Amino acid sequence: MSQQLQGKVALVTGASSGIGEATAVALAEAGAAVAIGARRADRLAGLAQRLTDAGARVLTLDLDVTDEASCRAAVAATVSEFGGLDVLVNNAGVMLLGRINGADTTDWTRMVNTNVLGLMFMTHAALPHLVERKGAVVQMSSTAGRTVRAGTGVYNATKWGVNAFSESLRQEVYQDGVRVVVVEPGIVATELREHITDADAKASIVRSAESIRQLQPEDIANAVVWAVTQPAHVSVNEILVRPTDQG
Ligand code: NDP
Repeated sequence: MSQQLQGKVALVTGASSGIGEATAVALAEAGAAVAIGARRADRLAGLAQRLTDAGARVLTLDLDVTDEASCRAAVAATVSEFGGLDVLVNNAGVMLLGRINGADTTDWTRMVNTNVLGLMFMTHAALPHLVERKGAVVQMSSTAGRTVRAGTGVYNATKWGVNAFSESLRQEVYQDGVRVVVVEPGIVATELREHITDADAKASIVRSAESIRQLQPEDIANAVVWAVTQPAHVSVNEILVRPTDQG
């Protein structure tokens, strides 16, 4: 693989599984030093070992994006270890689907705090460093940030929130040379749906996913690497990737 990101530093949130893990691998394969953050230390340690064995420079971050102090510490540790930050991938997220009437509202709190506020805290902490290096921020949104269905309203609201925040951010920072990339995957085969607490909602999404050829985490990682390796005058603002079989 070409080393287009040689000398660059990337921080990936939610790197302990799924899309974040694949993205950290792909960024490292492209030559970036990678800081990998999440809460499950054992999973991060396994990934760090694999990346190190492959010759990458890696920093493991104990990160809970719902905690602003944790976000600030993760960015500070990355800059301290690698000397700066070029690419922030705001990937950490939860998808606790279910109908609004009768919902367990603690699911809502977790989704809003993780998907929206966590992404905002990370962006806020990283922005001065991204401005300094004319870097890029990649926001992991979803097709759920462009379309809405019954039974997914709060998850939709978080991803629409991500898209709104990101377009405002783009308008604020484009003159600094910072690029903002929103990635909107359709159904990807990951652990995301395993955490759904509403049994009917979980069965429904599992049924839909298993009836099609799902995207793999690497399909989205490829899109991220493509976006952040474009020439400096090219700003890829939005990438929507669905499985071919997804309606
Ligand atoms: P996974 O469940 O495999 O990954 C989610 C990641 O987020 C994990 O690494 C998890 O790490 C991390 N995470 C969750 N909460 C926190 C937190 N509070 N602080 C830090 N990290 C956290 O699912 P995916 O890879 O599918 O999800 C990644 C992103 O992709 C999400 O934003 C999701 O909304 C989005 N997406 C996924 C789609 C899919 O079909 N899979 C489709 C469209 C978008 P840990 O638990 O160790 O902290």
